[in-house]
Amino acid sequence: PPLLRFAPSPTGPLHLGGLRTALFNHLFALKHGGKWILRIEDTDATRLVPSSLDSIRKGLEWAGLEYNFGPGIGGPHAPYFQSKRLDLYHQYSKKLLESGDAYRCFCTHAELDQKKKDLQESGSTMTYDRTCLKMTDEEVARRVRAGKKHIIRINDTKSPSLPPFSDLVFGEVRDAQGSLPTDPVLLKADLFPTYHLASIVDDHEMGITHVIRGEEWLPSLPLHRSLYTRLGLSEPRFGHLPLLLNGDGSKMSKRKGDVGVHDFMNNGWEPSAVLNWLAIAGRNVNNPLLSSQIPVTLSQLVEQFDLANYTRRRAVLDRAVLSQLNKAHIQRLVTSEDPTSQESVIARAIQLVKERYPNSSLNSPSYVTQVLSLMGDRIERIGQLTDVGRMFFDGGLALEQPMPCDPTIYVSVIDTFANWIKDAWDENELSNTLHNLSGQVKDPKNGSTVGRRTTMLILRHGLGGEKNGPPLGETILLLGRDEVLRRLEAVIA
Ligand code: GLU
Repeated sequence: PPLLRFAPSPTGPLHLGGLRTALFNHLFALKHGGKWILRIEDTDATRLVPSSLDSIRKGLEWAGLEYNFGPGIGGPHAPYFQSKRLDLYHQYSKKLLESGDAYRCFCTHAELDQKKKDLQESGSTMTYDRTCLKMTDEEVARRVRAGKKHIIRINDTKSPSLPPFSDLVFGEVRDAQGSLPTDPVLLKADLFPTYHLASIVDDHEMGITHVIRGEEWLPSLPLHRSLYTRLGLSEPRFGHLPLLLNGDGSKMSKRKGDVGVHDFMNNGWEPSAVLNWLAIAGRNVNNPLLSSQIPVTLSQLVEQFDLANYTRRRAVLDRAVLSQLNKAHIQRLVTSEDPTSQESVIARAIQLVKERYPNSSLNSPSYVTQVLSLMGDRIERIGQLTDVGRMFFDGGLALEQPMPCDPTIYVSVIDTFANWIKDAWDENELSNTLHNLSGQVKDPKNGSTVGRRTTMLILRHGLGGEKNGPPLGETILLLGRDEVLRRLEAVIA
């Protein structure tokens, strides 16, 4: 069965790109009966941000993406922190040195900078002139014995021919040898491996069958593949995920709005909607927003997932699509037959209501559920419920809006309707009663009957001080006879 890995470097908080990579690893693994590992690639001490691990784990937890092996869980290849696996990388770099596929380089930083500059000025595409490759074995041995600091580089003058290749997403990749330096470093002077060495060693050691990662690693692919070949190891399958773009086609970056997963957590987006959004970005299947197809659970996402539906086409993350998805997810979750997905969204809503309106008793699960489904399209994020649905929770009488008409008419409309509630309340007659209300009240100034629009405005105002909202009849039924009567009597008292 497949074994995959999500291998973030702890160099900052988890962002959308990382979450998408984790999601695709999860979906691919589960779709094919496999598992996945969380592996922390912490080999660059200079870029380490200690809080990242926490952010990665919290983000994955929020999204419900549970790794099978990794920090906090363990597994057959623990530890899952590269900084704790240095011996392993040293064994492999030794093998590469012995076969002449790698060499030691003793050049200092200053020398390397100078060489790079000179090469650039001479018009060369090389970044290093291979001074140390020309060093005799005796000289190398002497310097090693003397404890001279050095790095280990791959020897690209000796490059093996690679087996045929097809990327699971990009298909055939030719000339991807992008921006790699000359003879890339495998082991640094501090004896830590670079990403390239550590990642191929671990992928091999851990038995990774499929590497799914971002397109930004495509230029490293020839190096990784050459390392497998040089070491006589068979390579995993690779699938690179196209870069994520903003809705306007620009590259996603921190400067252009929120990209941190914590931003989406804190702003109350549904994790299922965010995952759905990430999963459809770049997918060449129509109608991603067809509500019957909207996957609200991870298993539904797994069911729909097929890596073959993605191509090298850039993946656009349009915020407007997330808004639409989020609305749809709230509605799907609220009406879900799966009690756990329903309960989690309702429980969050109730908590928000209680925090915001601590003195109101209008917060029972069934009530909040009904408000949520009635508010439907008006709520984009669950966090907006307490604002947009204020009148359902605050007990009324928060009359921010000015009275929509002459006070005499106002009182008379409210009075007429309140009397009907007291004397003749009948749910089945509600809509008729609302309809006929306008004919029953006269404007004292000119004796004409009050328009239907005005009567509706008056009742909305009396019930909650709002100008608009969901259909009035349904609003009244949801508030219930007693609450409606109480509010209307209070407003004209
Ligand atoms: N540590 C790399 C990163 O942070 C992982 C690249 C890979 O998956 O091979 O993106």
